[in-house]
Amino acid sequence: MAIASYRGRLAPSPTGFLHLGHARTFWTAHLRARAGGGTLILRNDDLDHDRVRPEFVKGFIEDLRWLGCEWTEGPDVGGPFAPYSQSERFAFYQAAFGQLQAGGFVYPCTCSRKDIQAAVTAPHAADDEPLYPGTCRARTLESAPGMRPASWRFRVPDGEEVEFVDGRMGPRRFVAGRDFGDFVVWRHDDVPSYQLACVVDDAAMGITEVVRGEDLLVSTARQILLYRALGRKVPAFFHCPLLRDEQGVRLAKRHAALSLRALRAAGRSPDSLREEWADC
Ligand code: GLU
Ligand code: ZN
Repeated sequence: MAIASYRGRLAPSPTGFLHLGHARTFWTAHLRARAGGGTLILRNDDLDHDRVRPEFVKGFIEDLRWLGCEWTEGPDVGGPFAPYSQSERFAFYQAAFGQLQAGGFVYPCTCSRKDIQAAVTAPHAADDEPLYPGTCRARTLESAPGMRPASWRFRVPDGEEVEFVDGRMGPRRFVAGRDFGDFVVWRHDDVPSYQLACVVDDAAMGITEVVRGEDLLVSTARQILLYRALGRKVPAFFHCPLLRDEQGVRLAKRHAALSLRALRAAGRSPDSLREEWADC
């Protein structure tokens, strides 16, 4: 029986230097691709034009190589699914967005972040995106001519359970409309959202398993709804634990001392980092 071969990806955003938390996730992705006799691709998630800087692209390529990750497709080496930088893949996102519009899955929303915050009754713990209260759900472009630039939201099926079996954490279940609300697929500045770009690329590049941090569990549920709406095959998922500092605070980019380049400059070896992740 033919078994589709494993295709995994590393998808860093060039908005800062990679830190220890990224390294652990990316090393896990590398190991899982290697164990599956598969292919690992590098994708440059550079859509956030306000924060992206070219030195961070160069930086993640250097840092990932230093760590020992090996990829055979990517912005630096090319490959059959080029281009591998999201900023060069606009046509793919536009086509998918058109498909969502034609299918009636999305609507224009003119709410500001402040409007949404004000309408939300309780802060939402699972995720940092506030639950959208549905203010613009019934809106169409025709119903509000001349409105200010709108973002476009995906209308989630309220009450529906989105389930998947995570490769590390087992069965997971999130309820649409309760654990997450209508989410942005196209931003008011005419850029696709992370959710849409990620699904379009993971599908187009034939990714069979997505390895990412646990902070994206709820986004995985959102993305499963997008796969379904777009009629694409849902990949497998493996969510890695997040690294925390001694105070239990999640490692983020602000922990500059834990950037891979700072650790390398301080004489740490990739092996010594990996020894600490034996429990992963
Ligand atoms: N570029 C995204 C990030 O760094 C990718 C997340 C994902 O793996 O989907 O957060
Ligand atoms: Zn709105």
